Amino acid sequence: MSDTTETVLIAGGGIAGMCCALALSAKGFDVTVLERDVAPPAGDADNAFFEWQRRGASQFRHPHAFLGLMCNLLQDHYPDLLDDFYAAGARRIGFTDMLPPALLNQYTPTPEDDRLWVLMCRRATIETVLRRYLEKQTAITFHNGAIIENILTHSDGEGLSATGVQLRKDSAEQLGFREITADVIVDASGRTTKFPQWLAAHDITIEKEDHDAELLYYTRHYKFKPGIDEPETSGNKDRNAGDLGYIKFGIFPGDNGHFALILCLHKTETDLIEAVKDGDQFDRIARSIPGLAPWVDAAKAESTTHPFGMADIRAVWRHYVDDDKPLVRNFFAVGDAMVRTNPLYGRGCSTSILHAHMLADVLQAQTDPIARALLFDRRSEDELRPIYKTSLTEDRNNIRRALHYTQPGKAKDLPGWQKKFAAAFFDALAAAVTNNIHVFRGAMRSLNLLEKPGAFLTDWRTRLIVFRYMLRGRSKNAGVRTVRGPTRQEMLQLISTT
Ligand SMILES: Cc1cc2nc3c(=O)[nH]c(=O)nc-3n(C[C@H](O)[C@H](O)[C@H](O)COP(=O)(O)OP(=O)(O)OC[C@H]3O[C@@H](n4cnc5c(N)ncnc54)[C@H](O)[C@@H]3O)c2cc1C
Repeated sequence: MSDTTETVLIAGGGIAGMCCALALSAKGFDVTVLERDVAPPAGDADNAFFEWQRRGASQFRHPHAFLGLMCNLLQDHYPDLLDDFYAAGARRIGFTDMLPPALLNQYTPTPEDDRLWVLMCRRATIETVLRRYLEKQTAITFHNGAIIENILTHSDGEGLSATGVQLRKDSAEQLGFREITADVIVDASGRTTKFPQWLAAHDITIEKEDHDAELLYYTRHYKFKPGIDEPETSGNKDRNAGDLGYIKFGIFPGDNGHFALILCLHKTETDLIEAVKDGDQFDRIARSIPGLAPWVDAAKAESTTHPFGMADIRAVWRHYVDDDKPLVRNFFAVGDAMVRTNPLYGRGCSTSILHAHMLADVLQAQTDPIARALLFDRRSEDELRPIYKTSLTEDRNNIRRALHYTQPGKAKDLPGWQKKFAAAFFDALAAAVTNNIHVFRGAMRSLNLLEKPGAFLTDWRTRLIVFRYMLRGRSKNAGVRTVRGPTRQEMLQLISTT
């Protein structure tokens, strides 16, 4: 721990805000978190999920995947926190649990396999456990019901510095203070951050890269009936997550007998979008997909919520440094407030926690405000930018694929030979991932962000194996990527005959 006396104010007590608070307090900073929503209710994970008023984080009740990157950061820095997660019902899924049956008999453990694990539970469970853990840290003050409505700044010959924030009148009355200042201000207020707007009033323009993923994301939650276990997934050819081209689907096993199902549609799939808003139609669609049918079988599980959706799915990157100069000193944006990726890839919480730890390292390593801003910007570019870029490429491919169904004329296709090569390569890669432990391990590392996305493909041994699969010919590989389910016409027919 350093002997700093610096104070840090964190706007927003979601995933990034709480992880910033933990990482900074561990380095000796005196941290205050201002969160607009109320604290989690007393009680267990179900109370948190069903009762917590969480209007500030509209994605709160959508299911979340917690990837290896996030899990390892939590384990390395707060090992005792893991016991709290398990006590609340979260489950640790290790590398051997993820292995397809064909690979179990080739399996010899390696040290890196211990890093390949994920946590399965609802986001409400993660947030509640984190919040209660924060309460035990004496260097962190957490204010709920603190709605920030502006930034406080100071301007001198060198430009603008952030000095604090101002609360909305009702929050101020409740908490007994209207303004609060600190040495460092952190924007962890998430995807709807207002800081860029407030800074614009000071003639500061935060440049934003902003790409629409053109996707609508629908969720429904379920609970297994008493005595019913989760369907066996390993060995089941029909996976519980996949893409039929016109619809993407995925089961998120949760905690305490709960699970969620997402159905994702391109914004032009108007009939299906209408259908998934209705509970019966949502279930009918799910039951028509072989990988989902054993989960949403009415005899085994019942819904606990109506279907609910999320639009405005975007990839966003905000630039706080321009021409090697920070636009605002003593101000740092972390998590979704700075970089957002499509939730379909489940990367947001992991990148937020990485960002939080990056900020703590930078603030500890540098004391000069300009050096801090530049170092934070460089490390964000080095470590988060490749993840953002990959997500963007995945979004573009997904949009192209979806448009083939609804607006074939609009879908920009690759030239014929490139399309054939890409298909042959991805078929071979899928076959290699399923049948070869070395390639599977690499793919899992990438998927869990334990390396830059796709880095495993630069490994010569992986390349050689994939190349060998390509030589077998497409007919032998093609089946691995096939997802069974109704064609789009069949699905449209299904929803129209109700
Ligand atoms: C539908 C959906 C599904 C997702 N699924 C996944 C997934 O599977 N895996 C994954 O890793 N990520 C997923 N994500 C992304 C993940 O939710 C975010 O990346 C993550 O929550 C970012 O954390 P954050 O702290 O930056 O923002 P948030 O968690 O949104 O927290 C922001 C906080 O700031 C508070 N706040 C906002 N404005 C103010 C204000 N004016 N004053 C005070 N407080 C304020 C809010 O109340 C909130 O608590 C998903 C996102 C969506 C939209």
